[in-house]
Amino acid sequence: MMENKEKELLDFDHNHLWHPYSALGKEENLFPVKSAKGVYLELFNGDLLLDGMASWWSVIHGYNHPILNAALKRQVDSMSHVMFGGLTHEPAVELGRKLVELLPDGLDKLFYADSGSVAVEVAMKMAIQYWYCKGRPEKSRFAALKKAYHGDTWHAMSVCDPVTGMHSIFSETLPEQIFIPEPPMGFDVEIDSGYVDGVRQIICENHDSLAAFIVEPIVQGAGGMRVYNPAYLNILQGLCKEYDLLFICDEIATGFGRTGKMFAVNHAGVVPDIICLGKGLTGGYMTMGCVATNENIATTLNEKDPGVFMHGPTFMANPLACAVSAASLDILSKYEIEPMIAEIQHGLSVGFSPLKIITCVQDVRTMGAIGVIEMRDQVDIPEIQKRMVKEGIWLRPFGKLIYVMPAFIISQDALKFLTGKIVKVICEFYHEK
Ligand SMILES: *Cc1c(COP(=O)(O)O)cnc(C)c1O
Repeated sequence: MMENKEKELLDFDHNHLWHPYSALGKEENLFPVKSAKGVYLELFNGDLLLDGMASWWSVIHGYNHPILNAALKRQVDSMSHVMFGGLTHEPAVELGRKLVELLPDGLDKLFYADSGSVAVEVAMKMAIQYWYCKGRPEKSRFAALKKAYHGDTWHAMSVCDPVTGMHSIFSETLPEQIFIPEPPMGFDVEIDSGYVDGVRQIICENHDSLAAFIVEPIVQGAGGMRVYNPAYLNILQGLCKEYDLLFICDEIATGFGRTGKMFAVNHAGVVPDIICLGKGLTGGYMTMGCVATNENIATTLNEKDPGVFMHGPTFMANPLACAVSAASLDILSKYEIEPMIAEIQHGLSVGFSPLKIITCVQDVRTMGAIGVIEMRDQVDIPEIQKRMVKEGIWLRPFGKLIYVMPAFIISQDALKFLTGKIVKVICEFYHEK
């Protein structure tokens, strides 16, 4: 019975459904999930997989959390959705209160968006409309870092790394942005003044046409899982101030504790002009993004014709998403976030330490609840993934990277299991070659 059901799902899926970054019908490995709880995925065949991905950074409290479930069920029974045009509601205000309290000082004007990518679009529109209102409409391009990832919609894509972001396919129609070399890798490395001079030069040459500089603070995620010194944030923000650029921090991946502080900008004490949130915002229950900015930008947007900020999604401030996000922030505020994440980082670095002497491994790095193994060569993803699933763990490597970002509630025993199995699979695979 179950086997038939599984086959039915896979057959339909294979013929009709795209998956992220996939060729329709060509996905080699596809694992039907029946349910998920805590840090485990239950497959249709009954196998339990220890999840190392938290569904791409987002399920920070684990799956099927009783408090989040209850918040959603309560909200369903009162209202699942009402338009936000001309109406407001408690979940939106409750969530807003909590976000304003949590966010760096001054970032207290909020725009709820549909997803991370849309939050980036909204932030970019805000920056352009800001300069339009200031009488400088020519400031309409963006500086972005190489190796960046900011999402898959049009303008978000335009500020992703031009190589890994696949600009070649869309180059005829993508807006052309200014790319700044990525900061040198390493949380603790000394500041490279030559690098800073290079950045200053590029900004100096282009500032007249630049609305903003957008960065992922401290950790560049999907563009390469690179970690850099927080002091670069202070430096980049300084350059933005000097040359009249807004500074946008995309905390969609890093926000809500992932790097060991509530927000990655907290490592540098930086307060950007605009911050983008997503992923972990809802505890990974559903899609939602948020853009936060300051009083100056908010009031400037009102100043000039049309006198309104020109964006308004149908499902803006969806009450279900707001309610579950508010509940997620409540749970988060009860964690001792710094020691909690430090313990995960310690478990990851101890667990991965045997890999440092393996020649197929280029680099092992951890930052908060993120662990990255960079291989010398492209990972044989279908084969590695098959072996990981066989060992009872769920990962999704890409390029040369095998990486984990588990739910914050993962136990030390589960971390040991996860890292141990990763080390085992890499060693066995490498040994056979
Ligand atoms: C995932 C991600 C996005 C895009 O978010 P979606 O919800 O997938 O649209 C944008 N920026 C960063 C840094 C991300 O990690």
